[in-house]
Amino acid sequence: MKNKVLILGTGTSTGVPVIGCHCEVCESDNPKNQRMRCSLLLHTGSGVKVLIDASTDLRTQALKNKVDKIDAVIFTHDHADHTHGVDDLRPFCFGPPQKEIPTYTSTTCAESLRSRFPYIFKQDEVFSKKKPILGGGIPRLKLVEVPEGVEVKIFGESFFFFLLPHGHTQTLAVVHQKLAYLVDCKSIPDKVIDFLTNRGVELLIIDCLKPQAHQTHLSVNESFDYIEKITPKRAGLIHMTHDLEHTELSQLAEKRFGPGVFPLYDGQILEY
Ligand SMILES: [Zn+2]
Ligand SMILES: [Zn+2]
Repeated sequence: MKNKVLILGTGTSTGVPVIGCHCEVCESDNPKNQRMRCSLLLHTGSGVKVLIDASTDLRTQALKNKVDKIDAVIFTHDHADHTHGVDDLRPFCFGPPQKEIPTYTSTTCAESLRSRFPYIFKQDEVFSKKKPILGGGIPRLKLVEVPEGVEVKIFGESFFFFLLPHGHTQTLAVVHQKLAYLVDCKSIPDKVIDFLTNRGVELLIIDCLKPQAHQTHLSVNESFDYIEKITPKRAGLIHMTHDLEHTELSQLAEKRFGPGVFPLYDGQILEY
């Protein structure tokens, strides 16, 4: 069986439509212009399901796409749009038997998650015999800090991770077989480009925020220039704002690259 990636959300941190906005994209009838916050689900040929980021929209995304199992989670970085769905991981841990989900991220992101969600990631300090967990429970996630550029096995599947500059923080790039996911980044270091070109990446999913330059994300032209350097067989654009209309962006990408480069949309499934 082939590996598949289910694109759960393709929007920037506000999502599209933006609350209160009446622009053409926000009011568009094309469902491909409706973008929830970014999460992906990898479904490997061996049957392992790995969620990349717990977006703010995770509950809706899981219900809409009938996601009923998650074996492992990867957090790319600690920003709210990628982590604030973390409590909606609870149903994936319900038993019997109760399940603890291994959760992979960078050391920086792990530190941040421990301080932002101590009731999940510092349970020993928050709860005790005197003050036990009462009521609805908490997601049972076990943090694993991953090294950069070294193979990490997740349920027998081989992954590689690299750090990408993203403003005051860094985002974890995720590589699984011929798929590379490079979201929320201002640039892509040469060593990552070399790794991806040597590997012959078939499907690159890459940050593409908006037409204008931005302090912490790739603009459309910057994204296109990296695609040209990395030369994947196919590239999907993600994390778009309401400044980008789906059909127009499709045409722009096709004009420069042909049909192999395209904006992604929520609910899309791609093989790799
Ligand atoms: Zn983001
Ligand atoms: Zn708008």
